[in-house]
Amino acid sequence: MHLYRNARVPLVCLPAPLNRPVEGSDPRVEPWRACDVLVDGDRITRVTPAGAEPPAPGVGVTDLGHAMVLPGLLDVHTHLDKAHTWHRAPNPTGEFWDAIKVLGADSVNWTDKDLHRRASFALRCAWANGTNAVRTHVDSGGGVGAAGHAVMARLREEWAGRITLQTVALCGLDGFVNGNAGDIMNLVATHQATALGGFPQPNPDLPRQLDYLLAAAKELGVGVDLHVDESSLVHAECLRATAEAVLRNQFPYPVACGHNCSLAVQPEARALDTLSLVKAAGIGIISLPLCNLYLQGRGYSPEGAPATPRWRGLTLLHEFMEAGVPVACASDNVRDAFYAWGDLDMVEVYTQSVRLGHLDTRLEASPSVATTGPAAIMGLPTHGRVAPGSPADLVVLAATTFNELLARPAARRRLIRGETFRSAEVPAYAELFGG
Ligand SMILES: [Zn+2]
Repeated sequence: MHLYRNARVPLVCLPAPLNRPVEGSDPRVEPWRACDVLVDGDRITRVTPAGAEPPAPGVGVTDLGHAMVLPGLLDVHTHLDKAHTWHRAPNPTGEFWDAIKVLGADSVNWTDKDLHRRASFALRCAWANGTNAVRTHVDSGGGVGAAGHAVMARLREEWAGRITLQTVALCGLDGFVNGNAGDIMNLVATHQATALGGFPQPNPDLPRQLDYLLAAAKELGVGVDLHVDESSLVHAECLRATAEAVLRNQFPYPVACGHNCSLAVQPEARALDTLSLVKAAGIGIISLPLCNLYLQGRGYSPEGAPATPRWRGLTLLHEFMEAGVPVACASDNVRDAFYAWGDLDMVEVYTQSVRLGHLDTRLEASPSVATTGPAAIMGLPTHGRVAPGSPADLVVLAATTFNELLARPAARRRLIRGETFRSAEVPAYAELFGG
């Protein structure tokens, strides 16, 4: 057993009654509590107020020196099959539809070996950045689905005990309804995918398409995780249609919707009405702030000169959180045509989400977007918490306060794995090309 002393843990990641602010502190400014965390093997067994109990004889002790400490982080929306293709499939316009074309053309290169090399590099980045659960969408509609799912299933085995890897079968809803549902359902069943995915588009047939998708998911006994409304189109209401379909079908498995950008440009009353439907349907909301920042609001003058973005694509983070809807922020694409940068780094996603979404005015709840929020959506109730029974994966930040963390987000962190520290070294890019 090992005792980590003087860890400043965000209140939202602690169990009751430790999750209440101590007297005299202002949780609007610094919503953490100083704790001692006892670890036995790979699990946390006890969390107590700092200094409340002396360590038992024979227990190793490390003083964390009042560092901010997060639980292992969860990245609930990624695309490991597309990751790290930028060097050979760049997208110089940064446009959404160009990204689809560029990666469609690149997908001829997605052999088992290529997929495994890139996806395993991405997982090594996630692990080195302190993440212990990842959900990836896997392109499933075309010729690449079989290889993608097989490689992710292999990676799930290779990373078992470190990163929990969930997969979602991503496809166009048109194709799913009109022919390839059987093939995709086979992939899901064979490779134990967590959910059926898809990117519904506004169209008169949408309710029927969603009914069909939900029926297929029900038959498989899996949830649904969709890309919806990734645009600034006011009439894009696939989130609303999904909520209505879940309620209409009394769909019994977990449902998550990613992006939800267009909600932010709709009339307030309509947007809030959709939000109520989402809550009633029990849908989890996933925001992809960095990728939306990159793709949304792209524009060019009639002469072709790049224009300044006028809107930044963020969904109604505050309003969903206020309503008690599970909310996660996640990486989405990393170093591919949809998003040129990123490193599967949930500390970066968290700190940027605070800045972009003004989550500083909801600071106490804010760490939930990288911890308890995605844990709820992924069905991993002990993850994302510093609590008895949780995995003993801790991220020790080079900061003693939220303010220091948000001011200097790139400072290198240390990682606790069970009773010792482990490496937080990200792999060198050269390793993508070696061997
Ligand atoms: Zn995505």
